[in-house]
Amino acid sequence: MKENLIQIIYIASAILFIFGLKMMSRPTTAVRGNLLSAVGMGLAIVATLMTGGLSMTWIVAGLVIGGVVGTVAALKVPMTSMPEFVAVFNGTGGLASMLVGCAEYYRYWSHGGGEIEAVPLIATYLAVLIGGVTFTGSMVAYAKLAEKIDSKPFLFKNQQLINAAVLGLLALGGVVFFLWPHSIIAILFFLLAVALSLVLGVLVTIPIGGADMPVVISLLNSYSGLAGCAAGFVISNTVLIVAGSLVGASGIILTSIMCKAMNRSLANVLFSGFGSATAGAGKAVEGEVRALSVEDAFFVLESASSVVFVPGYGMAVAQAQHAVRELGDILEKNGTEVKYAIHPVAGRMPGHMNVLLAEANVPYEQLVEMDDINPVIESVDVCVVIGANDVVNPAAREDDSSPIYGMPVINVDLAKSCFVIKRSMRSGFAGIENPLFYKENTRMVFGDAKAVITGLVEQFKSA
Ligand code: NDP
Repeated sequence: MKENLIQIIYIASAILFIFGLKMMSRPTTAVRGNLLSAVGMGLAIVATLMTGGLSMTWIVAGLVIGGVVGTVAALKVPMTSMPEFVAVFNGTGGLASMLVGCAEYYRYWSHGGGEIEAVPLIATYLAVLIGGVTFTGSMVAYAKLAEKIDSKPFLFKNQQLINAAVLGLLALGGVVFFLWPHSIIAILFFLLAVALSLVLGVLVTIPIGGADMPVVISLLNSYSGLAGCAAGFVISNTVLIVAGSLVGASGIILTSIMCKAMNRSLANVLFSGFGSATAGAGKAVEGEVRALSVEDAFFVLESASSVVFVPGYGMAVAQAQHAVRELGDILEKNGTEVKYAIHPVAGRMPGHMNVLLAEANVPYEQLVEMDDINPVIESVDVCVVIGANDVVNPAAREDDSSPIYGMPVINVDLAKSCFVIKRSMRSGFAGIENPLFYKENTRMVFGDAKAVITGLVEQFKSA
């Protein structure tokens, strides 16, 4: 009876996860989707606690420590640090799955070995392998994103060969583990798998750098789901299998979307060492930088009939989204057609700009995707680039020696005129020069994004 009730609750929470995930695909329903999934997770925890034979002391200790860390982090971590926060989340998910695999294998031996079914056996090995790679890979991604280590790709001689050798050893270990699980040699290969999977996580993440980090984060997210799914098979927990599969599948879909957005294949992201010292730096940029004051920018905007805002990471740093919305509203009242063009990898996490603009209540119908704005961008009077750099870099279209050549960008340089709001001539995340700043029709409005936009709002108000 109790077992049936637990399974029914598990099914209910799986349904809530699926609906929650579906709702998260639209900004209008995302918050409710998140809430629904959280309720699902709450139910899953309750059902798991109903299972007999658990040590409540350890569970309560885990709940208290995890709850405190999670609450403090959620309150303190700023929006701009969300990607590295997500990396840590993925990593701890991987570590948890790996520990489940280790604990179950230890339990198997401490109960004297004996028969073990094929599915939990394979799952144990996979939980350790994928969990270990996810853990250390995510820690490297965290360190790169938080600039604790150089975010440039770290390449060394015979790197691919070493990776292949490690993978080969892990595959061999898997075969031995599967064929002779009761042997001492299986224990040795299991311990080797623990160590090698941790090493592999570092090896496969250090050569990836620069603008490829979004892809890595979503891929590691997918790995953490797969590791969770494997852990679910190890301990025969239905809801863990379902939740792990959902995370694994959605992570891989997101990875593919991110690759498409950057016009790269996954293999190219993982193995090309993008942005390394050996990669091309692009042609030298020629031309003159023309600066514009806030007052002069106001005069142009006042007479513009169409304005497209193109936000980027700098808008998030400056927290300028509310001021941008206010300026958008003023322009609309002034008879200007206003749109917000969103690049899929603008900012530092998927959907970063959508989240910020939604927070500022920018109407959804004013948001346009890159593929929809580019064909009509030549008719736009002013594109206002707010703290964006890489995602509006025309070198991606014009310079075949540029490391970002082929990545789709918002073609703001093709608009009638373009204002770029940023604090200096510094490069963006990819660390490369941007010829946009030197184009005839570009004007640089130097300053903090919030200060500049607020200045423009004040100009309109006092006009
Ligand atoms: P970029 O990182 O290319 O450029 C941001 C620009 O914002 C900088 O050049 C900086 O110039 C400016 N800036 C910073 N602070 C401020 C401020 N307070 N006011 C005004 N400007 C400011 O950002 P993009 O959004 O154009 O591109 C995103 C990049 O990040 C891409 O390379 C993408 O691949 C990568 N990435 C994306 C992730 C995602 O999932 N979206 C995750 C990880 C990386 P200055 O210092 O001169 O002000």
